[in-house]
This record gives sequence, C-alpha cells and structure tokens, in this order.
Amino acid sequence: MQTIDQYNFKGKRAIIRVDFNVPLDKQTFVVTDDTRIRGAVPTIKKVLNDGGSVILMSHLGRPDGKAQEKYSLKHIVSTVEKHIGVPVKFVGDCMGEEAKQVCASLQPGQVVLLENLRFYEEEEGKPYHLGENATEEEKKAAKAQVKEKQKAFVKQLASYADCYINDAFGTAHRAHASTALIAEYFPNDKMFGYLIENELKAMDKVLHQPERPFTAIMGGAKVSDKILIIENLLSRVDNLIIGGGMTYTFIKAQGGKIGKSLCEDDKLELALELLKKAKEKGVKVYLPVDAVNADAFDANANTQITKIDQTPDGWMGLDIAEESIKIFSEVIAQSKTILWNGPMGVFEMEKFSKGTSAIAKAIADATTKGAFSLVGGGDSVAAVNKNKLADKISYVSTGGGAMLEYLEGKELPGIKAIRG
Ligand code: AMP
Repeated sequence: MQTIDQYNFKGKRAIIRVDFNVPLDKQTFVVTDDTRIRGAVPTIKKVLNDGGSVILMSHLGRPDGKAQEKYSLKHIVSTVEKHIGVPVKFVGDCMGEEAKQVCASLQPGQVVLLENLRFYEEEEGKPYHLGENATEEEKKAAKAQVKEKQKAFVKQLASYADCYINDAFGTAHRAHASTALIAEYFPNDKMFGYLIENELKAMDKVLHQPERPFTAIMGGAKVSDKILIIENLLSRVDNLIIGGGMTYTFIKAQGGKIGKSLCEDDKLELALELLKKAKEKGVKVYLPVDAVNADAFDANANTQITKIDQTPDGWMGLDIAEESIKIFSEVIAQSKTILWNGPMGVFEMEKFSKGTSAIAKAIADATTKGAFSLVGGGDSVAAVNKNKLADKISYVSTGGGAMLEYLEGKELPGIKAIRG
C-alpha cells in the first residue's frame, strides 16, 4: 500500500473524500466549529504543493437523498478558502455537466468543492424516496434499484480524477460510494490522507504497541453500546475504569442499591460475565465508589453524595464524586497508555460535569508526564475542548463511531478499500 508521502501529485487531479460535515449556525449558516476543515488542510496542501489539483467531496448533515439549501456545502466555501489560502470553485451539483467540465479542465494549483454527495441517494445506497408505508417487497426492489444507480454514480465521481484519497475518518465505517466503493477505480492510485493515517497510527499504537500500564476509561450511558469494545480491550489493557450511566448495571449486578439510576436490567448477567473475564485475564477493573445523586434528571435538581451502592430510593446517580475522582486520577497518573471514550456523568449539566472534567485533566496531566493518550467519541472530545485541553492529549480522534468500531476489532469498509 502506498502512502500519500510516496505519491507525486504533479499534474494529477486528486479527488479527496474529506469530512466537511461541520456544524453551521442555524440562522446565518456560518461554520461554528471548523476543526474538521482544519483537519483536512495538510492533505490538500500536499497535493497542491506537489503541483496537482484538488477535487473535494463530502457530505453535510442528513439530507436523505434530496437537495436542500440548509445542507449545501456552499456555506463552507469561505472557511475552506481561509484555511488553505487558495480560491475554491464551488460546483452546485456533484453529478451535473458542470462538474464534469470543471474537473476536466482543472489546472495545477486549483481547488474545486463538489456539492453535498448525500443530495443523491446513491451516495449511501439507501432508497430514501420510499414512503414509510412501503411494503417489504417494495423496499427490497427500491434498494436494488438504488444500488444499480449507485454504480453509475461512483463511476462518474471516479471519472473526475487521476487518483483518490480518503481523508474522512468519521465516515470510514460506512460502505458508501465516496468512502469505499470509488477506490476500486484507482487500484494503483488510492491512498489515505494524513488525517486518516494519523488516526490509524494512534489507534494501532494503542491496540498493538501500548506502553504499560495501559488504562482504558469507558463511560457514557449504556453498557450495551460498549460491550464489544470492552471485550476486545480486556485482552489488551492492564486497567479498566468504568464510569457514567453504565456503572449502575455493574453495581446492581453485584447486589448494590441504585435507586432510579440508569440501568439495563437485561445486561446484569453480562456485566457479571465481563467482570469475571477481566479477573481471569488479570485486568484490574475500577468502578466508581461514590456518586453525586440527583432527585430528578434536571440541571437544577437537588443533589447529595452517597456511596455508589447505596443510592437512596427515588434518587439517581448522575456523576462520579470526590473519592472516585481521586482513585481514578491516581490510576491514570501511573499509566503510560490511556484510552478514553465516554463521559463519567451527565456532563452537559454543570452540576454533574465535575467528574468528566477531572478525568480529562488527569489524562492531560499524565500525557504531559509522558503517557500516550487517545481520546475519542463526541462527548469526551467535547469535554476535552471545554476544558481547553486538546493540545495536552496525544491524539483526539475525529471519528466517534469509526474509532469504536476499529477498536472493537471490526474491519472498516473505508479502511479496507484502501489497505485491501
Ligand atoms: P454515550 O453516547 O453512550 O457515550 O453516552 C453519553 C451520554 O451519557 C451523555 O449524554 C451523558 O449525559 C450520559 N450519561 C453519562 N453518565 C450518566 C448517568 N450517570 N446517568 C445518565 N446518563 C448519563
């Protein structure tokens, strides 16, 4: 497999799948967080500096196969121009005649941005045009029809360029036209951009060459969402810290009182099994020992602190408390590799955000002292950014779902299409 650094783009048109799915202000359509656009800049610059030209393609939001003004990529053109320092020609239909002509006449140094790929059902290969009341038969037929049309869609996108770069990690777990299928048109001219390369490097380091002790911190609402990743990590980590809503399934399974805290009653057995497996593998599991409880799921709820397994009736645990923070922080401080996914509490509400912020700080401190840290998932990344710690984390992943699937050991279609 060739790398972007090995490839010379002189005189070549590169079609780059970027992740420009950025948040926009609802009224003004101004980009409110340009992290993803900045993430694509090194790859775009490499092509331009070599003397090549660039065709950018992306999705924005969920237009479900229909052109919609609010999801137009035209809103982001000026932000892209600002970051790459080159004018960007916007083409308002990724499949039209104009797209063909503009791409055919591209000169070295020029950059084109195609309109939202998901304005076509063919991008995702889903028959969105079908109504809710369609029969199973109709759905099957429509899906087959979209898949057939998808072939022409992929072929046309591929015809615009001489080489293909995938730099959209956030959608690498989807087998869409632009993230996976297009690669087959470029058997010798396909590669990852720098952003995906760096994501893979960070994840592979954590999975395959972790310096020890290796600590994984899992939080968030549900155990059911994290079972696969926890299972895969049990044969790799030394310590597993569990926080967030999923804590209570483990606590109840062990006979604790959890009041009306979040709990998945059908996962109690599984929680015990995970704890047993961890023990067999010599993994130390740290569950919270105390919690900030609330009398309602509300930002202004009354609060009290109790031991984690003594939540009174009518109360629910919404954050980890001081003693847990102390224990978790000590484990983190002694770790050399740290992986974090999922908040320790309902961090969106100020009263229940302390635990998550404290863990973000502990990870940043450990990183400053030489540990390698990888943080992923929308909420954990938001907590890192809120505490202005992004530059103190070794790698902040841009793809929550894609990162989880990779760490679960799954093969991501967008990665396989290039790696083979
Ligand atoms: P996830 O998407 O599974 O990573 O879960 C993230 C969500 O879990 C966030 O919106 C948090 O507010 C929520 N969460 C974290 N801790 C708790 C808790 N103790 N009780 C209820 N929800 C929680």
